[in-house]
Amino acid sequence: MKKGSWIQNYPKGLERLYKFAERVFLGLDGLWSGLGYDMSEKLIKPAEDLFKTVVFECNECGQCVLHYTGMTCPMNCPKQLRNGPCGGTRVNGHCEVEEDMECVWLNAFERSVKMPLYGEEIVNIEPMHNWIREGESAWINMLREKDGTYQDSTPEKLELADRELWE
Ligand code: SF4
Repeated sequence: MKKGSWIQNYPKGLERLYKFAERVFLGLDGLWSGLGYDMSEKLIKPAEDLFKTVVFECNECGQCVLHYTGMTCPMNCPKQLRNGPCGGTRVNGHCEVEEDMECVWLNAFERSVKMPLYGEEIVNIEPMHNWIREGESAWINMLREKDGTYQDSTPEKLELADRELWE
């Protein structure tokens, strides 16, 4: 059993959609900051939750890393690991905690290699999740990082050892 929806089997389309949505959202920052980020969050969050829950089984961590992790939500890992698998993945690719579930990180890797835009970023090192953000809008939190309200959560960039995987 995989977490999330069948749409995630088309990560190339999803990463393009993400890129487009990010551009539009950031382009409207004047509007969001004019309204205030708290008010904007109230307007945006219901739609964000609906879309991300249906498509990605989002857990509302408020610090989204989807495009770094093969458009696969790492918070569905029972251990909520955000930097790769624990090492306990079964030989059939299933989770050691939830036997019926495929390892989230196996799915994340398989999808990443199909993503020409962001796929390689799966090797980057994610900073620790800031639990204060849980339940908040990850989109608005992106702006809160830009204005300094929240600490920057851009992952540390690493070079990919085997570039052929993505070619
Ligand atoms: S906001 Fe957090 S919990 Fe939701 S999809 Fe993104 S990484 Fe997963």
